Amino acid sequence: MEFKSFFKKNTSLPVSDSKANVPDGLFTKCPKCSKMILTEDMYLNNCVCPNCSHYFKIDAKTRISMVLDSGTFEEWDVGIKEKNPCGFEGYPEKLRELKSKTGLDEAIVTGRGKIDGNDIVIGVCDTRFLMGSMGEVVGEKLTRAVEKATELKLPLIVFTCSGGARMQEGVVSLMQMEKTSAAIKRHDKAGLLYVTVLTNPTTGGVTASFAMLGDIILSEPQALIGFAGPRVIRQTIGQELPKGFQRAEFLLEHGMIDNIVERSNLKKTLSQIVKLHIRNKDNRLAEYKKYLEDKWANLKKRYADIDWENAQENNLSAWEKVKISRDNKRPTTIDYINRLTKNFYELHGDRKFGDDGAIIGGIAMFGKMPVTVIGHQKGVNVKDNIYRNFGMPNPEGYRKALRLMKQAEKFKRPVICFVDTPGAYPGAGAEQRGQGTAIAENLFEMSDLKCPILSIVIGEGGSGGALALAAADEVWMLENSVYSVLSPEGFASILYKNPKMAEKASEDMKITAKDLLEMGIIERIIPEYEVVSRENLIVFCMYIKILIAGFLIDKGSMTAEELTEKRYERFRKM
Ligand SMILES: [Zn+2]
Repeated sequence: MEFKSFFKKNTSLPVSDSKANVPDGLFTKCPKCSKMILTEDMYLNNCVCPNCSHYFKIDAKTRISMVLDSGTFEEWDVGIKEKNPCGFEGYPEKLRELKSKTGLDEAIVTGRGKIDGNDIVIGVCDTRFLMGSMGEVVGEKLTRAVEKATELKLPLIVFTCSGGARMQEGVVSLMQMEKTSAAIKRHDKAGLLYVTVLTNPTTGGVTASFAMLGDIILSEPQALIGFAGPRVIRQTIGQELPKGFQRAEFLLEHGMIDNIVERSNLKKTLSQIVKLHIRNKDNRLAEYKKYLEDKWANLKKRYADIDWENAQENNLSAWEKVKISRDNKRPTTIDYINRLTKNFYELHGDRKFGDDGAIIGGIAMFGKMPVTVIGHQKGVNVKDNIYRNFGMPNPEGYRKALRLMKQAEKFKRPVICFVDTPGAYPGAGAEQRGQGTAIAENLFEMSDLKCPILSIVIGEGGSGGALALAAADEVWMLENSVYSVLSPEGFASILYKNPKMAEKASEDMKITAKDLLEMGIIERIIPEYEVVSRENLIVFCMYIKILIAGFLIDKGSMTAEELTEKRYERFRKM
């Protein structure tokens, strides 16, 4: 491990919880469990307490050595002179003292380096320097790093830990928020990746600017993250705060961050994210399709008992298909994602209210091509189904889906959606948070999304809740899936005043793949040579992969304008 050798060379590096340090530095006292730990053991455990898993704050250089490939870091913009815009007494002396004490230039270190061989620009805050607060120099160093990343077309990774704006510099420190955000907007417009890693604590003006602007926002466990800290809230308005308030876990649940990552997994995770954003212009889709076709030909031979040529038309009734589509043994979105793609990295949250378990989404590799995958997710057992809300999304689910689709557009990734929901969740909370608005916004934005969108109905396609993931360039249906304006039970109770007539309703409603293909609502039926299950999914997905590769080759040859024009014509026919 490179980090070990770094530590050996830098054993005098103070840890930020330095008050807890024993003077000779041989032992460190854990501020959480009070145990005395050999300082070297603590470092070798990624600065996590081996006894209670407390995360020690770490300084910027240590952080860099933990994340970047050894010897690749090149530091930028050292020595920018601080001003004292408010003439704050003792401030210049304090800065001088901190510089000599910490060996730091300022509260942030910036530069470039490599992660698993891939070039990135990095910024790392350091709380040892005035609580990592952002004054003019911090803002300037970060802004220059962002601008250079934009110029060099490189991904940007920023580790935050900060008390917020630097009070000693008055309103000048506030202006750093707009300066850094504006630079990040330009980096964003250039279609480049920005990842933030929030560490303990990330608060105030840093949270309200560059920390929360990542395409992907990660956090270390238990990190305190918020704009107004708990003490400010209590002192200002006297409000009591819920348990775990403003901790990373709380933010994940409330949709504000994508994932919490253990320190020991950070490099691996960042590396995976960077790799998923490398756009290989030569995605070799045609070659991949040919490879899949050969594999498929072999698989067909192995399953010679299936009548591949004539299996398209099965004789199941619409009602039987309804029952199959709802069967909890039927594969769910995650099963398809795992079979059709590799290296799936799940992202969470709508950045507004919550993370909806009923919709799953993230980035994955289809062959050599990064794709965004999103789908309704049903549970496989009762406990899972409660978390997944039986595949019935709330507005935050649709908003998460839209957030991921907009990301796909930015990075020019195709979107593949999997539809499997009884419908959007009919609940008071969902209405209060704008269920109708959330679905409408998806239809609105998907109509003009500048990247290919494919939707596959794998189970139940229930009403507007399904449509919000199916306003696509093409919609395909598995042979035994259904897609309808509402459930047959609902239809029967409205039109026949008798919910028991659901079976008749399912026939009358024209909800099978065959019906919908004939009506021109969908583009393709994916035959189920035998009813699809988790057991036969491998064979089945080989066939779907060939179809998806064909779709991507076809759409990949179109410009964004051609793509959206054709999509508009498709909707216009309805
Ligand atoms: Zn401890």
